[in-house]
Amino acid sequence: MVNVYHPVTLIPGDGIGPEVAEATVRAVNATGVSIDWQRADLNASIITKAGEVLPPHVIESIERTHVGLKGPVTTPIGGGFTSVNVALRKQFDLYANVRPVHSLPGLKTRFTDVTIDMVIFRENTEDLYSGLEHEVVKDVVTSLKVITRTASIRIAEYAFDFAKKSGRKKVTAIHKANIMKLADGLFLRCCREVAGRFPDIEYKELIVDNASMQLVIRPETFDILLLPNLYGDIVSDLAAGLVGGLGVVPGANMGDQAAVFEAVHGSAPDIAGKGVANPTALMLSAVLMLIHLGEHDAARRLRRAIEQTYAERSRLTPDVGGLGTTHAFTDAVIANLG
Ligand code: NAD
Repeated sequence: MVNVYHPVTLIPGDGIGPEVAEATVRAVNATGVSIDWQRADLNASIITKAGEVLPPHVIESIERTHVGLKGPVTTPIGGGFTSVNVALRKQFDLYANVRPVHSLPGLKTRFTDVTIDMVIFRENTEDLYSGLEHEVVKDVVTSLKVITRTASIRIAEYAFDFAKKSGRKKVTAIHKANIMKLADGLFLRCCREVAGRFPDIEYKELIVDNASMQLVIRPETFDILLLPNLYGDIVSDLAAGLVGGLGVVPGANMGDQAAVFEAVHGSAPDIAGKGVANPTALMLSAVLMLIHLGEHDAARRLRRAIEQTYAERSRLTPDVGGLGTTHAFTDAVIANLG
């Protein structure tokens, strides 16, 4: 078998980022795949010194590797620099945010009596994340929600293509077109148009407030969720809560030229440096990365090792009811790789 050497940009980030990134690199390396990790540090002080959210060393590295594994980066709230994540998505046109949300074996949640297995497709480049905010006069601010046909069609196509290739049965588009008739109306028309090309896949629509309630009362009925940017962000965290929280849900930002894999969670300043951050979400993001790199066997082994570690329960981190540390959990995953 040919051993391919994959260049990957590693952005550890800040807060708990470096802790979960180190754990994930250990676990990925232990699968035996050959990764050339090209480290690109990024945090508030680097950004402030560089005077730009995406300094050249980060852009150049991803331009070279086309693949990134990224820890969270703190974004100042209500002022300061803009989000690194939004900037990355715009810079590399990472238009599809993909978040698989699965129950983990042995993990006690409020929903242990049902099997949750959904994949969230969130449009990643526009909507209220366009960053177009304006103070019209003192104390009056507008924030522009941008929805385009191009972006809506391509996220819908991405979701339906995935549904078809992975044998999934149903896509639910989530919107608020009863109120935002033009903006969400356009998103919905695009979803319907694409749905028409996939007659074998059931297509449903739900208003976002109702969808939030349905997700809580019958999460097992959801398969693929298709959402514009802001609802996708909020619903992703809600869905993460169904299966054990932000520490266990992975994510992928996919474009035609590059892909950046990152957990749904943020930099968790409340637990940073304590050695108790849960690396599962970034490890599962690395599983998605390995699939993207064509390393299917390593991806399957790493996912199984994580699942087995949950089934054993003894090394879990405090956020999921354990007493373990990031390091102990990682050791257990590596031992379970066999
Ligand atoms: P957060 O996700 O950092 O934390 C929310 C809660 O979940 C905290 O109690 C935290 O301890 C817990 N948590 C999160 N990840 C965990 C993990 N791996 N293991 C155990 N517990 C975990 O959300 P926040 O507090 O709203 O945001 C903090 C900062 O992170 C903000 O500056 C925000 O902008 C940034 N952020 C970055 C990203 C990213 O870089 N992708 C994503 C979201 C938030």
